Amino acid sequence: MMLLNNIQHIYSSLPHKIIKENQPLADLSTLGTGGKAEYFAQPQSPDELQQLIRAIRSEDSPFELPLSVCVIGGGTNTLIDDGITHGLTVSTRKMNSLKWLNDSTAEIQSGFSLPVLVRTLRERNIGGLEFAEGIPGTLGGALTGNAGAGGKGVCEYAESVKAVDSSGNIRTLARGEFEYGYRICSLSEEELIIVSAVMTFNSTLAYDERAGEYFRSKRGTQPLNARSAGCTFKNPEGVSAGKLLDECGCKGLSVGDAAVSDKHANFILNKGHASSADICELMRQCAERVYENTGVMLEPEIRRWQPVFCVQ
Ligand SMILES: Cc1cc2nc3c(=O)[nH]c(=O)nc-3n(C[C@H](O)[C@H](O)[C@H](O)COP(=O)(O)OP(=O)(O)OC[C@H]3O[C@@H](n4cnc5c(N)ncnc54)[C@H](O)[C@@H]3O)c2cc1C
Repeated sequence: MMLLNNIQHIYSSLPHKIIKENQPLADLSTLGTGGKAEYFAQPQSPDELQQLIRAIRSEDSPFELPLSVCVIGGGTNTLIDDGITHGLTVSTRKMNSLKWLNDSTAEIQSGFSLPVLVRTLRERNIGGLEFAEGIPGTLGGALTGNAGAGGKGVCEYAESVKAVDSSGNIRTLARGEFEYGYRICSLSEEELIIVSAVMTFNSTLAYDERAGEYFRSKRGTQPLNARSAGCTFKNPEGVSAGKLLDECGCKGLSVGDAAVSDKHANFILNKGHASSADICELMRQCAERVYENTGVMLEPEIRRWQPVFCVQ
């Protein structure tokens, strides 16, 4: 508590007392697993996040450096570690504004909800993101993993990305300075916290209601009322991971309260009080089964909990 008081004192210049200690993290992930953050902050603006990182580096900072920093957006694709996450965990959810710059371009903060973005485009009759109907989470999380469906991904529409680095400086990466592919984006390796992106959609392309309905209806095959992090494994080239898992008899496998969904073999569910370790072990068993039966090594789509950078 003493340390926390010192920290709050140092950040008294910030508009809110934004650092908490021993913050439970499970409710911030759709899987509902994971332990506590040693320190936790939910900045309300990129500026506040920048000030926070700078204050941590300042001479009178009570933090012991290096301090690792983890980031959570919507928590819909992340397996948070059980136990204590040392260092600072930053939630981006309160950095969630959207500002239209013209008919088809908007500057959107990283904590903005992807479903709300998709709905906004639908309501404005702007096409492009129909494939993202039903994908939960925030824009920041979507950009780091190039979230998508049907061969398309969100990064395609990112004109530029603004982010805070481990020195508390703002960096802007223009299109061409980051690369992306199937559920992968180089932004996730840049040691940056994304704070906003300028997204450009095609204003001459109307929202395609049939495509939107197609992607919404595909959600019917997924266990949407249960706790999950979406698809557990990426699809190997030309094959559905769900089909492989199903054919290898993974439906019905469980470890503690972690279970493979009966509805969709590529979804692992937390049916009660599963730990992240249970989910990890079940992922291992599923991957092993598929490898032994087919020789295919599945790659996780769920993201491991790891710091984005260390403040030195
Ligand atoms: C029911 C269900 C269905 C899903 N369907 C799909 C689908 O069809 N297609 C698909 O691609 N995904 C799908 N997902 C997975 C998930 O919704 C997406 O990957 C989503 O884009 C993740 O966003 P998030 O904000 O929840 O990310 P989080 O889980 O919060 O974070 C994911 C990773 O990004 C990092 N991160 C988050 N925000 C930032 C930031 N601002 N700066 C730097 N790093 C950051 C985190 O540290 C973490 O490593 C589904 C998930 C569920 C639960």
